[in-house]
Amino acid sequence: MPKKNILIVEDHALTRFGLRTAFEMTSGSDIEWRVFEAPNAKKGFDIIAKEKIDVVIMDLGLPDINGIEATKTIKQQHSNTKIVILSSHEQEEDVIKAIKSGANAYCTKDVNQDKLVEIVYSVMKGAAWFDPKIAQYVLNAAGSNTEVFSQNDNANEPAEKADTNLTSREKQVLSLIADGLSNAEIAKRLDVSINTTKAHVCNILQKLAVSDRTQAAIKAIKDKII
Ligand code: CA
Repeated sequence: MPKKNILIVEDHALTRFGLRTAFEMTSGSDIEWRVFEAPNAKKGFDIIAKEKIDVVIMDLGLPDINGIEATKTIKQQHSNTKIVILSSHEQEEDVIKAIKSGANAYCTKDVNQDKLVEIVYSVMKGAAWFDPKIAQYVLNAAGSNTEVFSQNDNANEPAEKADTNLTSREKQVLSLIADGLSNAEIAKRLDVSINTTKAHVCNILQKLAVSDRTQAAIKAIKDKII
């Protein structure tokens, strides 16, 4: 059974305890989790320097360095470490900054623990996950100000090169999804049947390892697939 190390960076002791318990309870089903805890970013960096951490759950409001800066620092040194942001608020600016910092997922703290565990598993498999409540911010930012995603900023680079194997037709469909078009509209635009469109969308979701078209659009933008 694969052993994975998870680090919870969170200053709120009760939240840390709850998260530790959630992972310890799921431990042994298909992954054996070793759970590490840090009450601030610097303690987190110390642990990451010593242990090979596979995934970090990162609070945004930390007492020393904010979670976005901490995410950037970790990603610069350990690009393969997955980072799931856990935030108590959902300000558009934070969401965009978190994505630019290289975070693999962004959840708000009202996420239930089973869902969070599920998100961590999907992030470990290479997927990105963004709370549907905040997904729209990302799409807005991409639509209104593509600069947000195209600045020459190293932290903005996807940690792993997106190897999606999308065909050029699928990329075309994905780009229309990101523009907010429905299947019917995409079918019309590309002059293909709705079933063909659905098949393309289905393949795209599978290849990108995402569960719906919003997540597909976000991944496309984040990883610069389109
Ligand atoms: Ca906090």
